Amino acid sequence: MYDTKSKVGDYMRMKNNYHTHLKYCNHATGVTEDYVTEAIKLGFNEIAITDHAPIPVAFMTKEEYKHNWCSDTMPLEFIDKYIKEIKTSKELHKNEIKVLSGFETEYIPGKEAYYKLLRDKTDFLNLGVHYFLNNKGHILNTYGDVNYRNVHEYKDTCIKAMQTGLFNTLVHPDLFFYGYKDKNGNRVFDEECIKISKEIIEAAIKYNIYLEVNCNALKKEEEVSDVSNWKYPIKEFWMIAKEYKDLKIIVGCDSHAPERLSGFHVDAIYNFIDQIGLNILEKMEINH
Ligand SMILES: [Zn+2]
Ligand SMILES: [Zn+2]
Repeated sequence: MYDTKSKVGDYMRMKNNYHTHLKYCNHATGVTEDYVTEAIKLGFNEIAITDHAPIPVAFMTKEEYKHNWCSDTMPLEFIDKYIKEIKTSKELHKNEIKVLSGFETEYIPGKEAYYKLLRDKTDFLNLGVHYFLNNKGHILNTYGDVNYRNVHEYKDTCIKAMQTGLFNTLVHPDLFFYGYKDKNGNRVFDEECIKISKEIIEAAIKYNIYLEVNCNALKKEEEVSDVSNWKYPIKEFWMIAKEYKDLKIIVGCDSHAPERLSGFHVDAIYNFIDQIGLNILEKMEINH
C-alpha cells in the first residue's frame, strides 16, 4: 500500500542538487546568486546551475522548433555570460558551498560537436530528452507525441546520447510516459513501456550515467496524494529500476525558481523513494 502522506521537512535530507534553471531560459526566475544563497540557507554542500542550453535554429524545421518550445532556452550569445556568472558565484562562496556549472541539453544524433562545445565550457551536462528524432527524420515531442509505436525511438535517442560520453545524468528518464498512449489510446504503462524502461536502465549502468528522480512536476499540494496521476516520476518505471542494484540514482529538484529548491514537492519525492525502497545516491560524481 502506498502511504501518500509525506513527512513535512523531509527535503532537509537533501544536501546536494544538480538540476536548476535561471531566468535566461524564459520560463524560470532567479540568477545564480539567488540559487546559491538559497542553497546555503538550506545547508546544501553542492549546488549545480544547469539551465536549458540554447538550441540552434538550424537543428530542425521552424515548425518543429515551435512545436518543441525550443525558444524556451537561453539565446546562443548568452553562453559565455552565463558561464562567467556561475564562475563568479563559485569563487565568491568557495568556503561555504561547492557551485558547479552545467547545462540541461537535448540530443540530436549528428550534432555532437555542439554538445561537446557546451561540455567543454562546463563541469558536466544533464541530458533531458524533451524531444527526439524519429526513424523518418522528424522531431517528436516527448510530452505530447509518444505512443506504443514510437516510444522505442525515445529510448534510442537516450541510449545514443549516453554512448557519446558527453552526459553525466539522464534527467526525468520517465518523461516518455507524460502523455503516453497505449494501443487503445490510454495512458497505461504497457509492455512497450516495460521493455524500453529496462533498456534505458541497462544502458545507464553500462555507460555509467545517473538516472534522476525529478521533483518538478508536482506544482500543487493537492496533486501529491494521487501518485498514479503524476506526470512524473512514474512509479512503474522506478519499481523496475529498483531491481537493478548497480544503477546510480539521484534526486533532482529541477527548480525553475530559487524557492523551489525545497518544499512539499521535494518532501513528496523523498516519500515516494522511501515507499518504493529506492537506493539514492546523495552525491553525484562527475564521470564524463
Ligand atoms: Zn525547464
Ligand atoms: Zn530541467
